[in-house]
Amino acid sequence: SKVLVSGANGYIAMWVARILLERGYSVRGTARSADKGKSMSDYFASLGYGDKFEAVVVEDIVKEGAFDEAVKGVDAIEHTASPFHTNLKEPDDADFLRPAVQGTVGMLKSALKNGTQVKRVVVTSSCAAVMDPPSKPTVFSENDWNVTSPRLVEEQGSNTAPLTVYRASKTLAEKAAWQFYEDHKNEVEWDLVVINPPFVFGPPIHNITSLKSLNTSLQMWSDMVLSETPKSKEALSGSFAWVDVRDTALGHVLALEKPEAGGQRIITASGPCIWQEWLDAANSLPSSSLPSQPLQKGFPEILQGEKVYLVSYDKSKEQRILGIKFHTQVETAKDTLEEFARRGW
Ligand code: NDP
Repeated sequence: SKVLVSGANGYIAMWVARILLERGYSVRGTARSADKGKSMSDYFASLGYGDKFEAVVVEDIVKEGAFDEAVKGVDAIEHTASPFHTNLKEPDDADFLRPAVQGTVGMLKSALKNGTQVKRVVVTSSCAAVMDPPSKPTVFSENDWNVTSPRLVEEQGSNTAPLTVYRASKTLAEKAAWQFYEDHKNEVEWDLVVINPPFVFGPPIHNITSLKSLNTSLQMWSDMVLSETPKSKEALSGSFAWVDVRDTALGHVLALEKPEAGGQRIITASGPCIWQEWLDAANSLPSSSLPSQPLQKGFPEILQGEKVYLVSYDKSKEQRILGIKFHTQVETAKDTLEEFARRGW
């Protein structure tokens, strides 16, 4: 069967498309330009999937009916396209909220209109839609919603910090998806699954040319682990939750395959972590795995004594429905750094 992947040239979506192809699906991937489409097609042809992967251009996902053609003839949809960056001076609706929310609703509208074969739609949300960073250690689950970021955007308008706008965009987009489904569920043959990943790390297969052009989450990882200037003890004590890109991508595919996933919001988190753990993991690797940059040692003493993780997730729903076997931190660090080295970085 054939699956539509939106924003297929992105970090996570390239892995979603690759795992779909490896499991025998055909994939139609959207990108914003023909060049980006070609680089995806070239990559998948190089893996032997030339006849199974088709690139289409969707220039502006905010435009009414943007996905009307793309959904025709597909059996399922993985909607991942959404802005994720923090390099804005004055974030506004056009940068974040519109592509996130209208892009998502637009995909569902197109599926309602022309997705006559579609059985399931998976939307990539985020743990940003689940929680706002707490001040004391907290375990979150699918029952939690980030209500803080949308409120801050409303109060602070164009003065809102870019990361807060991003977090709000994911919350509002996911809410809009569930609302759309609720309003139209009697008119469609498909159901909805939402995947909520925390920070995503792991080897990139998308078309990027240097460490400076990485996607946002991997950029943060590489800035910490391969930093040119030593990071402070405070920065390296930072605690959050993470997942390997291959595991969350597999989660997107399993979300299509598992009947019980229908109607569910599912967090795909490997576990909690502290930045220093990533430095320790990287420093434990043989030098043959490492790119040319020197690794920082950081402050290993941060991890002495009882570790306190600020953000953790209840994995029971994910384990019950998807049952992902997650990569370890050392595996993810090794595969990421080997990929950086392979690219000559
Ligand atoms: P990337 O930046 O690598 O991919 C984002 C994709 O969305 C690209 O295809 C990009 O296209 C497209 N996109 C971005 N802005 C727009 C826009 N305004 N209009 C149309 N398309 C757009 O990031 P990720 O792979 O990390 O993100 C993919 C999804 O995963 C997003 O929904 C993100 O919110 C979500 N996510 C990511 C996490 C992470 O840690 N990486 C964690 C949780 C959720 P182009 O290349 O042309 O810019």
